[in-house]
Amino acid sequence: MEEKFNTLNRFVGLISSFTRNIVRAVNSTEVFNALKETISKILDFKEIMIFRYEDGNFIPFDEDEKKEIDPELKSLMDWVAQRKSSSIQTLGDEFILLMPLIKGMRMLGVVVGKLAINLEDLKQEDMDLINFISFQASIILENLFLYEELTEKSESLERLSAQMKQLLDSMLYAIVVYDRDMNEVFKNKAYQSIGDLPNELRMRISNLVERCFSTREGITEEVEISSDSSSSFYSISVIPILFENEEQVMVMMMDVSNTKELERLKRIDELKNEFIANISHELRTPLAAIKAYSETINDSIDMLDPETLKEFVEIILDQSNHLEELIDELFDFSRLESMTFELNLEEFDLVSAYREVVNALEELASSKGVKLIFDESGKIPIVADRKRVKQVLTNLIENGIKYSDPNKDEKYVKVHVEDGDKEVKTTVEDNGIGIPKEYGDKIFERFFRGGNVLQRDVSVPGTGLGLAIVKKIIEHHGGRIWFDSEVGKGTKFYFTLPKRRGN
Ligand code: ADP
Repeated sequence: MEEKFNTLNRFVGLISSFTRNIVRAVNSTEVFNALKETISKILDFKEIMIFRYEDGNFIPFDEDEKKEIDPELKSLMDWVAQRKSSSIQTLGDEFILLMPLIKGMRMLGVVVGKLAINLEDLKQEDMDLINFISFQASIILENLFLYEELTEKSESLERLSAQMKQLLDSMLYAIVVYDRDMNEVFKNKAYQSIGDLPNELRMRISNLVERCFSTREGITEEVEISSDSSSSFYSISVIPILFENEEQVMVMMMDVSNTKELERLKRIDELKNEFIANISHELRTPLAAIKAYSETINDSIDMLDPETLKEFVEIILDQSNHLEELIDELFDFSRLESMTFELNLEEFDLVSAYREVVNALEELASSKGVKLIFDESGKIPIVADRKRVKQVLTNLIENGIKYSDPNKDEKYVKVHVEDGDKEVKTTVEDNGIGIPKEYGDKIFERFFRGGNVLQRDVSVPGTGLGLAIVKKIIEHHGGRIWFDSEVGKGTKFYFTLPKRRGN
């Protein structure tokens, strides 16, 4: 009776001191230590080792025990880990106690103790106590492991999110993330440093974001934002993302104006080279003719009959006129480029101005077999630069004649005017060769000429400046110009002019 009482007393003492120790434990090492200490008080051991079980490996928890695990012991531990209950085995000539630390199905470690007593002296109650203590330790250990894993995970998550933030901040792209209500839920440094976005840009972004929310597809667009004096270009990508099951849209934006400007300058440079090749050809052709005919006249004036002489002089005159036109066009262009270009505004009737242009070009058109049609009657009063407006129409009709289709029997250029409240819309339509789609608005760029200049039919003269000048004149008036065309069918150029300045 008394012996039982003493045993119980000893058990209670050991359990309560063990519990006190492990309850205070803040890491697994403290639990292992308490376990080791308590077990060694229950039974006489020569040595106690504790191994932590991680990803199928046994790792001695004690730093000093970093040495290789005896392969025989290792296979015993594997066996106990599978069996999931404690066992006494022989290792060499010693008896060892192997006790798995298990919580639920989770293997946490193994306690290995080399017994210092004979097997006959081993009491069942001591074994029960060791099992109980180990079970207690397992509970605490599992909690600690979970806690350690969690801390590690949240630390690595924190590190990851800090890294992500750093990465996003170091990007040249301005990044902003919107939620469904268009709240900005994240902005990187580049975005914050832009400050207030221009209104138009803000609107374009929110349109893209809305499109992205409804289609759930990424979109990339290049956006041009014009102010009074300059244009800025932005490359904007919107990407649908999911954050904690919430649909969001990430916007990545970069100001690519410099790249665009470089591209533009490079293109102008190429066009200028082409232009020089072209213009020298354009100038040389009439000059060569003038020179040749003048020389002939000079050398053989006595031998030429008046009829031939007249014909030669007419050719010289004709070519001089052409040269003059070319030089005028160049001069005009350089004035437009240097912005020393002013409009001479006056009130006049657009229809009669157009009539004058059509009459002047009638002969050119019929010489090329092109019918020139202008059926307008009535009057359309307008305040504009009469000479410049006539120049615009002249240029467009001349192009219509120049680019007529030699394979068509009935070639025409039609001029049509639509009078509106505030503006007048003019259409110049031809059934000529048409403009390939890939040219697009490039035809309005200075020096642009369709096809390779050097391979062009010489009967289609030009400088590539005509439409650039036309566009400048129209835009100076506050109007717009655009076109529709189909290769082989023909082209329609449209332009508008405000009826008054300030409309
Ligand atoms: P140019 O006529 O001197 O080449 P423009 O600036 O007037 O220069 O026109 C630019 C280019 O646009 C032309 O080279 C031609 O390829 C194309 N183009 C203009 N008008 C027409 C038209 N009516 N039909 C077909 N192509 C045209």
